[in-house]
Amino acid sequence: QTGDERAALIPRYVRVNTNLWTCSEAAKYFKSKGFETADPIENQKGFLEDEHVPNLLLFNPQARFHEEETYQSGKIILQDKASCFPATVLVQDIQEPHGDFIDATAAPGNKSTHLSALLGNKTKLFAFERNEKRFLTLKSMLAKAGCRNVEPMNADFLAIRHDNNKYANVTHILLDPSCSGSGIVNRLDHLTEQDEDDGNDHSKQERLEKLASFQLMMIKHAMGFPSVKRIVYSTCSIHPTENEHVVSKALESSEAKLKCFRLAPRTQVLPNWHRRGIPEEMMTNHAECVIRCSPGDDATNGFFVSCFSAFRKLRD
Ligand code: SAM
Repeated sequence: QTGDERAALIPRYVRVNTNLWTCSEAAKYFKSKGFETADPIENQKGFLEDEHVPNLLLFNPQARFHEEETYQSGKIILQDKASCFPATVLVQDIQEPHGDFIDATAAPGNKSTHLSALLGNKTKLFAFERNEKRFLTLKSMLAKAGCRNVEPMNADFLAIRHDNNKYANVTHILLDPSCSGSGIVNRLDHLTEQDEDDGNDHSKQERLEKLASFQLMMIKHAMGFPSVKRIVYSTCSIHPTENEHVVSKALESSEAKLKCFRLAPRTQVLPNWHRRGIPEEMMTNHAECVIRCSPGDDATNGFFVSCFSAFRKLRD
């Protein structure tokens, strides 16, 4: 299968932005526009609700929404199913009371807007983006999606000090850093999710290793915030170098040991999603705890999601 052939079998995923309306209002609206409840691959006008991600609708791969009022006004967000997993996992089984949230690498804002909605547009979310141009995209996406709980910051996450009082109450961090993008088969998603290549002509392995050490540094930095309890690390890469290997190294780090970070069990990480980590690439019991999406097989882009959880009571 070529990338285009695989992309043709991926439904057009439409996330209903519950900051602005509900999923049942959206379903009613689409029915009024001639859509019907039916398999969207077989029926051009069919649409269904996703079985793993709440408020996500599946349409025919040829369906186009970019010109639609619902898209222009931020009521729907065109986001691949796999890309909806990180925010879903970060709030899964969330316990009250919890503190503030950080999205460490936020532009263009798909996951920040998703988190904003999952948090009922209330819990404070700091959204960092280092690149100035992409930061502007982030700001406009947050405004369009009606996010009132998000404070966008044009800053390098690695430069944020752990003793900065502003972040003393951060308990949850979403970390979706730059990666090789090797899982992306849908060209539309390529334009939105993936940041620009650094333009250097590294060999493939050299490039992956450079990315992996940056990704590891980001996880270790996230672990250093004084109240952090849960960190979701994701990539749209299919390479174990950026996924299972990075997670294994992070678990071995002094930062993880200090706070007793372990992988959250499968029961807390979309337990009904069938494809888990590659057991040959990390400890077998760890592989069960993480999620993979395979571009040819799962009707999504290639993706990886892991969730670190701090097991010791903090600040005792
Ligand atoms: N999570 C985003 C979404 O769902 O829309 C996609 C994030 S994209 C894969 C990674 C982003 O992280 C890029 O926009 C990149 O500029 C930004 N980035 C990379 N390193 C960063 C850092 N140290 N601090 C803040 N942002 C960073």
